[in-house]
Amino acid sequence: MGRVIGVFSGKGGVGKTTLVANIATSLTKTFNKNVVVVDTNFSTSHLGMHFGLYEDPKVTLKDVVSRRSPIESAFYIHPTTGVRVLPAPLKQYTDDSVMRSLDVLAKKLKQDNDVVILDAAPGLGKEVLSSIRSIDEAIIVATPDLPSVTDAMKTVNIIKKVNSKANILGVVINRVTNEKHELTRKEIESATNLSSIIEIPEDKRVPESIALGQPAVHNFSNSEASIAYNYLSGALIGEDYSPSGMRYGLRKMLGLTKKHIVRPPSLGKEREELERPAERKARQPEKSDGHGLKGRLNAKVSQKLRERGL
Ligand code: ADP
Ligand code: MG
Repeated sequence: MGRVIGVFSGKGGVGKTTLVANIATSLTKTFNKNVVVVDTNFSTSHLGMHFGLYEDPKVTLKDVVSRRSPIESAFYIHPTTGVRVLPAPLKQYTDDSVMRSLDVLAKKLKQDNDVVILDAAPGLGKEVLSSIRSIDEAIIVATPDLPSVTDAMKTVNIIKKVNSKANILGVVINRVTNEKHELTRKEIESATNLSSIIEIPEDKRVPESIALGQPAVHNFSNSEASIAYNYLSGALIGEDYSPSGMRYGLRKMLGLTKKHIVRPPSLGKEREELERPAERKARQPEKSDGHGLKGRLNAKVSQKLRERGL
C-alpha cells in the first residue's frame, strides 16, 4: 500500500506544480518508485504542461468517476521520463463529481503505487478541501516572503482541522536567493510551526524546463534546483541521495556548488509510534485562526523585518 502526499501552499505561484513535476520525476527515475501524479487544481490546471501536454486528455477523470473508463486509461505517460500523470482538462469541469470522488480515487491509486502525489489548487476553497481530505501526508511550499508564509500558516491550520490524521511533513522553501529582504528559514519555521525539509534555490533552469515541457530534474539534472528536488525526493522516502556525474564533480572541485541542507521529515507510522499523547495534543489546530496567525506574524516575523529597516 502506497502513500498519498498532497502539495499545498495557500498562495498561488509559489512553485507547487513545479515541485510536484520534479519530485515525481525524481522518484520515478532516480529512486525507481511507482509514482502517479494527479492534477487536483481542477479550475486552473497546469500540471500536464510541465510534462509537455498541451491538449485536453482524451479520457478524463470524469470518465473514470462515472465508470465509463478504467482509471489506467486516463493516465498520460510522459514519453521521456515515464512519469504517469492524471491531468485535469484545461477547460474547467462543469460539475464537482471528480472533486467529490477524489478521496476514493486516491485510495484506489495508492493500492497500486508507492507514491501518489496530488498537486493542489491555490487558495483554501473546495478544490483544496477535497485534496486535503484525500491525503495521508502533506508538504507545504512557501516562498520566503510574508504573503506566502501567511497563506502557508492558514493552510497548515486548515489541514489540521479538516484532516487531523494527515502527517504534515514540513515546509519546503522555494525560490531562495538569500537576499536581505527574504524571510529566513528560522523565521518561516517559527511562523508555520513546521520544520523545513529543504530550501530550493531560485534557478533559471526551472522556467527554461517548463518552456520545454520537461521537468528540470530530467533536462538539467545538475542544476542547483534539480539537486535540491532530488534531495527532497530521497528525504520523502527515507533514502539517501548524493549528486554525481563528471560535470558536478568538476563544479564541486571549483567550489561552484551550493551546500544543500536536508532535514528529513518523520514519516508516517514511525511518527505515530514515537508520538506521545502530549505531543499529539500540541499538533491540534489553534482555537482562533485570526489571533494565532496575526500574533505569531507580528511577534516573530514582522518585528524582524522592522529590525532590518524594511
Ligand atoms: P504554483 O503551482 O504554486 O502556482 P508554479 O509551480 O506554477 O506555482 O510556479 C510558478 C512560477 O514559478 C513558474 O513560472 C516557475 O517557473 C517559477 N518557479 C518555481 N520554482 C522556481 C525556482 N526554484 N526557480 C525559479 N523559478 C521557479
Ligand atoms: Mg500550480
